[in-house]
Amino acid sequence: GNYTREEILAMAEEEDVEFIRLQFTDMFGTLKNIAITARELPRALDNQCVVYGSHIAGIVGEKEPDLILYPDYNTFSILPWRPQQGKVARLICDMRRADGSEHEMSSRYILKKTAQAAEKAGYTCYVDPECEFFLFHIDDNGMPTTVSHEKAGYLDVSPVDLGENARRDMVLTLEDMGFEVESSHHETAPAQHEIALHYGEAREMADEIITFKMAVRTVAKRHGLHATFMPKPRREVNGSAMHIHFSLFKNGKNIFVDPEDPSRLSEEAYYFIGGLLAHSREMTLITNPLVNSYKRLVPGFDAPTELTWTRNNQNSLVRIPRVNGADTRIELRSPDAASNPYLVFAVCLAAGLDGIQKKIYPTKASDRSLSESDQKEQGIENLPENLREAITLFEDSSWMKEILGETFCKQYAQAKRKEWLRYSQEISDWEIEEYLYRI
Ligand code: GLU
Ligand code: MG
Ligand code: MG
Repeated sequence: GNYTREEILAMAEEEDVEFIRLQFTDMFGTLKNIAITARELPRALDNQCVVYGSHIAGIVGEKEPDLILYPDYNTFSILPWRPQQGKVARLICDMRRADGSEHEMSSRYILKKTAQAAEKAGYTCYVDPECEFFLFHIDDNGMPTTVSHEKAGYLDVSPVDLGENARRDMVLTLEDMGFEVESSHHETAPAQHEIALHYGEAREMADEIITFKMAVRTVAKRHGLHATFMPKPRREVNGSAMHIHFSLFKNGKNIFVDPEDPSRLSEEAYYFIGGLLAHSREMTLITNPLVNSYKRLVPGFDAPTELTWTRNNQNSLVRIPRVNGADTRIELRSPDAASNPYLVFAVCLAAGLDGIQKKIYPTKASDRSLSESDQKEQGIENLPENLREAITLFEDSSWMKEILGETFCKQYAQAKRKEWLRYSQEISDWEIEEYLYRI
């Protein structure tokens, strides 16, 4: 909705809203919130609510960690899974400094800046995400497992698909909150599901993804299941992606369309792909932020590894879906749902626009998976193989600093280095299996 202050106050009253959650995200896209009572709502709407940020990732160590929450009025929405008497509503907030200035550690602000720069050049970026996740069992102690009795596969139906009711409940809950769910289905791996959202403007959709994950996990829990967006929870089956479809509009028209082209794509669409491919290595830390993200990006599991574009090769980074006219779009296949969607959209939009501006034509097309030697011969690069490589590429990129800001990049990379260090000192079950007996 497009609400005024008075409309929000009236809605809260009419709907018997008792609590309002002021939500924001840290630099990794983790949702945070503080709850206020309805009595305090006018204060919140006047940007008078403050949180102490010293335990928020990215704010840790700041001399003045006070964060002022500026609610985005348009995000007012009632949480359907909370009590229906004495309801709970939420507002997504921008975090600002005490003097009211925008915070350079706010990823929502970073996306706003990038989207505004695009608007200045006449472009509006639309995205539609496809979110994959697993529904696993919970053990007797209430802890999540990686176990499921389910054996269903791609597009299977009940009674084989045991997640049918949970998925239905998720979709209805999301629709209740004003989401437009495009489709949902059982994915390739047992217990794996996908829900695709109808496209919208980039920042709106980043807000939606954050809310989506909260809703999916909450509904799963009500069904006695654990929903996880972990990129690769089980070695032997596909991991979970968050494919993103992009289109650019100018004067209300999708400029990626050209009916004369064999792939029905315009020059701009090709250049956008070129920009994504050109920048993809340095931005992988943003699209695939965890140690575990890189266990997904391997051959043989429908995940991308090579920097090519395609119509049908599962190893390619960018795919052209078979859609026509106003729906024409391109699909980036690398992101996973552990990523911060505000940052993913910011870097992808910036990369695509850079491609358009510099007329970067994507030369590396591929219609089948290539052997390593073919790949070498054709000069095709790969995505980074692990978090460490991704961190180094990110740190060495001056372009990333331009898009995300120097301070932001520094803090982000530092936190990721620590994560890598903790991981690299672990001794895994694999090592014990492999070496303890033989060596
Ligand atoms: N789950 C696959 C991945 O990890 C994607 C499957 C699909 O093409 O939808 O990227
Ligand atoms: Mg899928
Ligand atoms: Mg897809």
